[in-house]
Amino acid sequence: MEMNATREEIERWDREIVWHAFTQMAEYEPFLIDRAHGCTLVDSDGREYLDGVSSLWCNIHGHRHPRLDEALRRQLDQVAHVTSLGMSHPVTVSLAKRLVDIAPPGLNHVFFSSDGSSAVEVALKMVFQYWRQRGDPRPGKTKYVALGDAYHGDTLGSVSVGGVTRFHEMFQPLLFDVIRLPAPQCYRLPAGVTRETACDYYLGQLERTLEANHEEIAALVIEPLVQAAAGMITHPEGYLRGVRELTQRYDVLLIADEVAVGFGRTGTMFACEQEDVAPDLLCLGKGLTGGYLPMAATLATDEIWGAFLGDYSESRTFFHGHTYGGNPLAAAVASASLDVFQEESTLGNMRDKVERLSSHLERIGQLAHVGDVRQRGLIAGIELVQDTRTKHPYAWTEKRGIRVCEHARKEGVWLRPLGNVVVIMPPLAITSSELDIICLAAERGILRT
Ligand SMILES: *Cc1c(COP(=O)(O)O)cnc(C)c1O
Repeated sequence: MEMNATREEIERWDREIVWHAFTQMAEYEPFLIDRAHGCTLVDSDGREYLDGVSSLWCNIHGHRHPRLDEALRRQLDQVAHVTSLGMSHPVTVSLAKRLVDIAPPGLNHVFFSSDGSSAVEVALKMVFQYWRQRGDPRPGKTKYVALGDAYHGDTLGSVSVGGVTRFHEMFQPLLFDVIRLPAPQCYRLPAGVTRETACDYYLGQLERTLEANHEEIAALVIEPLVQAAAGMITHPEGYLRGVRELTQRYDVLLIADEVAVGFGRTGTMFACEQEDVAPDLLCLGKGLTGGYLPMAATLATDEIWGAFLGDYSESRTFFHGHTYGGNPLAAAVASASLDVFQEESTLGNMRDKVERLSSHLERIGQLAHVGDVRQRGLIAGIELVQDTRTKHPYAWTEKRGIRVCEHARKEGVWLRPLGNVVVIMPPLAITSSELDIICLAAERGILRT
């Protein structure tokens, strides 16, 4: 019956049965994507849209990439799923080894899960258990430091470290307390702070916090370089490096959540590389499978891994797991994605496109209601404000960002905003001319709203 459903039925079920993520279902208008090729999505009417936000930040090499498709098909002929509870599949094992090889130094162990929220949840729990079980236990270290406007996922642990008021406030009674520092942003700087002094200012705040509370702090969790869901907030240069030095000095573990910025987004394979930082835990998701299948990973150091080893009866085991963690289909396509990075020189070929995006942003930055343009690699956020002088924001109820994106859609470009921030975050495989089309559509959308 379902096979022969009419278009009308599908749309009605999509409105009435499917509960969409981050979507007001009372207003939802079905938008059905039938298929895709390269960086283009095709809807049920055959209309084409450039995928301007990488199908929510995860697509890297484009859709239906022959190498990735082939890897999946080949894996299907082997086995679709093998649990990671006490057994393994060679493809998953090889992927773990490859991740260790490309990750910042010292991250020699990989725990697989199925989504970015879980990757963060795993890191939070590992850290907690680590301080209780290590050779010189510090069970008093139970708190986390997190940044304002941070987004680490939607499970309760990751929401606890998250700081996006509009998403997270309602759940406050369910969350654990964290030590919150303001987001180290450069647009709305506190009085007396300039772009030049911002890095020292924010690191000074962190240092005072660590100095006063390090005895009870287990870890600091950060989205390196760019706080994505916060509105593509870019940190001052040197901030991440400083965070690493301070956390080391005060014996606090560093959890780098690269779910959004990992896999080439910022111009290097991992954002941490840009400031020569090796975290204690690294969370990966979104781009891990090139945008094909749900898979995430938490990488950890020997020091952390070691604290979980022992006799079975000691119960040092990490009692945590996800049914599909390390799924071989996902691992096969993730591994193929790493091959494509090499074969197509994905990172090398990005440079021209990053520059091209910069020149578009420079022009867009001059428009009447554009308060700030922020970019790191192929991540861009264009912040619309009521008044560029006072930086006064539009009320979120005005749907400024949404209206810009609605215009872009009419021009065949699919974008999804973050409040008043128009996001441009295309697959790394985007061509320069496709990038032009995306930026011009966003620009005309801004001019018209
Ligand atoms: C998207 C995101 C997550 C959550 O990942 P899901 O796969 O949606 O659970 C966590 N951290 C960051 C930085 C993200 O951008």
